[in-house]
Amino acid sequence: MKNNEAVIEIQNLVRTYGKTDAVNGLNLRVERGRCYGFFGRNGAGKTTTIKCLLNLLKPTSGSIRVFGVDPARDEVEIKSRLAYVPDQVSFYPWMTVQDTLAYLASFRKHWNRDLEQQLLKQFGLKTSLKSGTLSKGQKTQVALIAAICPEPELLVLDEPTSGLDPIVRRDFIRTVIGAYQDSDPGNRTILVSTHLISEFEGLIDDFTIIDGGREVLTMSADAARQRFQKVYARFTGPLPQLELQDTVVTRRNGCELELVTLDQPEAVLNRLRQPTMDKLESHALSLEEIFVTTLQDKQR
Ligand code: ATP
Repeated sequence: MKNNEAVIEIQNLVRTYGKTDAVNGLNLRVERGRCYGFFGRNGAGKTTTIKCLLNLLKPTSGSIRVFGVDPARDEVEIKSRLAYVPDQVSFYPWMTVQDTLAYLASFRKHWNRDLEQQLLKQFGLKTSLKSGTLSKGQKTQVALIAAICPEPELLVLDEPTSGLDPIVRRDFIRTVIGAYQDSDPGNRTILVSTHLISEFEGLIDDFTIIDGGREVLTMSADAARQRFQKVYARFTGPLPQLELQDTVVTRRNGCELELVTLDQPEAVLNRLRQPTMDKLESHALSLEEIFVTTLQDKQR
């Protein structure tokens, strides 16, 4: 892998199931050291994309490179450098948590035992429990421990927090995922597909929103927060007639106006600075609000 090469590079990916176009011409580029959010509504094509890049599904067409190589040709090399937590995990039901982790560790060149103990303690998982008796959330916890302990270069997480209770979830995202990246800054990359966008807000560097198997928006989180602003304007008289491009008006009430900017917030704010302007406030949308706004705007 060359220095300037992306960790994941997907070009024009198409994957159909019979007549369903699950992924339809998708491009995605994940740079080294970034935490990349992959967002979309149910059925948008996230899991299909992830399975294609892990060579669990064969693309109908398009090109995929992970660490600069083709997952269909160099599957073993790629899999030794990444860990994947699927949306539904299953283990051999007769194995205990201890056995399961030992079994999974046996496939790995490296396994951080201290980290394993620390995570078991943090999750409050009893290692003597049989996998078959674990709750959905506890199974996810085991899968997350198994993904983090090899300290891979790339973590691919598909709905990693589904089934976790809110306390474990918050703890996991802040401390576990954060610590995974911080322990080798700039070298640990995450691709995370999640519906719990707000919980990952502080970690996401870049993101892509897909819909109907196509990319709708790709941006850095900072640039997105800069561009998508919620604006409140109050005037001393009736609302002036203004041409406000690239906005979605969310409330119009007497002399008050609320809107969301989809681009160039400064230009919008300047237009609102009329002689009758009484109050003008703006603040960045959260990533979750950006997700909702983007998809609602697309439906209009
Ligand atoms: P979710 O957020 O609900 O997990 P997703 O974005 O991961 O959704 P996919 O699972 O990739 O979406 O599904 C994309 C589309 O492909 C959907 O229309 C789905 O019905 C279809 N699909 C997925 N798997 C199969 C399959 N095995 N056979 C037929 N169609 C499938």
